[in-house]
Amino acid sequence: MTLIFSGNSFKYEVEAVAKLFFPGESFDFLYEQQFADGDVCIIRRKKCKNYSFCFVTAKLDGKRKRRCCKVKNNDTNYERLCEQTLCRLLFLCLKELTGISPPWGMLTGIRPVAFINKLIDNGMTKDEIKKSLSEDFFASTEKLDFAFEISDVQRPFLNPAKNSFSLYISIPFCPSRCSYCSFVSHSIESAGRLVPDYVEKLCEEISITAEIADKLGLVPDTVYIGGGTPTSLEAGQLFRIMEAAAKNFNLSGVREYTVEAGRADTITEEKLLAIKNAGATRISINPQTMNDDVLKAIGRKHTFEQFLDAYILARRLGFSNINMDLIAGLPTDTFESFKASVDKAIELNPESITVHTLTLKRSSNLFKDFGKVKDNPVEEMVSYSQKALKTAGYRPYYLYRQKNTLDNLENAGYSKKGYESLYNIFIMEEIQTILAVGAGASTKLVDFSKGNIKRVYNYKFPYEYISRFDNLMERKQEIIDFFKGVD
Ligand code: SF4
Repeated sequence: MTLIFSGNSFKYEVEAVAKLFFPGESFDFLYEQQFADGDVCIIRRKKCKNYSFCFVTAKLDGKRKRRCCKVKNNDTNYERLCEQTLCRLLFLCLKELTGISPPWGMLTGIRPVAFINKLIDNGMTKDEIKKSLSEDFFASTEKLDFAFEISDVQRPFLNPAKNSFSLYISIPFCPSRCSYCSFVSHSIESAGRLVPDYVEKLCEEISITAEIADKLGLVPDTVYIGGGTPTSLEAGQLFRIMEAAAKNFNLSGVREYTVEAGRADTITEEKLLAIKNAGATRISINPQTMNDDVLKAIGRKHTFEQFLDAYILARRLGFSNINMDLIAGLPTDTFESFKASVDKAIELNPESITVHTLTLKRSSNLFKDFGKVKDNPVEEMVSYSQKALKTAGYRPYYLYRQKNTLDNLENAGYSKKGYESLYNIFIMEEIQTILAVGAGASTKLVDFSKGNIKRVYNYKFPYEYISRFDNLMERKQEIIDFFKGVD
């Protein structure tokens, strides 16, 4: 598919809309040309004195659709308005030509629930918001109702103390790489020799970050140790990191402390005890699927049985807040097998279950096999999980969307009442500062008074993190600078 731009260069947003209809496809971009062979969309804007004419022509398999609209120049957001208009025209042309109706419409690149929460805070009624999102963004009623349900569940948690923060600790190691993974995670086999130095530097960064938080009067509210797979480390290493957090920060007021135990092949009694004794209150044990063949197909080196053993062990050791992740659309999975995974998860009765939809990122091994998964019945799978989980008493409490997700669907976290993960809500709604440590981690600074958000990135790779640690710590000054002048 070729995208031709004439009188504009709204490439980013236009490409995002085109991708809704042609996931996994690469586009050619041409500027100020009239024609191109094959499938093509022409995005044209003609500026006149007080208005712009916006035209879109889309040609697909020899069929053609055309739409146009006039945009008056009486708005301060004139450029944005023209961009949105061209996107809308393109969306409508491609919807007609392909017969595809993306369930979230044009809501790409934004977090729907956060968007709704903001509109509610700005005084709009539910009906007004629904009307706007369905008419301007073409979102389906079903998805809007789902987003509103989540917004209602989230309301009581949307006011963390202004001087509070969440601490994120990154452990970017995994036992092996899952085929769908795009995360910068390193196999513990190949990168294992880096782990002792990594743990050393991580503890140092925890201490430096605690000094900064102290200086700024910031108080820890939640802690999240994620990855990767934190339980790839040895029990002693995990304990050491958690001990460093407990020694350097005052964790007495922390409301939630999560460790992503992640993969069953890394979980042992010794590690779970270390996690528990070091103060974690919530863990994730993520099967992704309960089907051994599917587990094999995605490159996870554990079985359903091993997952079950890990879960039973965690319960026996007294973990009373456990999350499980599932993914809809995995290679070789079928609707029946996915349904069985959801039913099994419900039967095991964890406090929360997160249902992701498979996302295909270029950096994943699975990307080249896009053709094998693109027709998986994800809509049916996701819809089943939604109904089954609600019937079983789980409430959806957070949601996020990613690019290149099969059928443009979503990832949603469900929990029993009282087990909503605060960290997950805060990170998605961007309503609390996150001080992040470790390779691949990104600190997110939130200034409520001006509505500003700033990110400070750590180096991605462990070897870089270790060798350029001093450089990295100099960047921490940005945290102090950001909060200067914040009320
Ligand atoms: S466990 Fe998670 S982070 Fe690790 S390779 Fe698999 S998907 Fe990636």
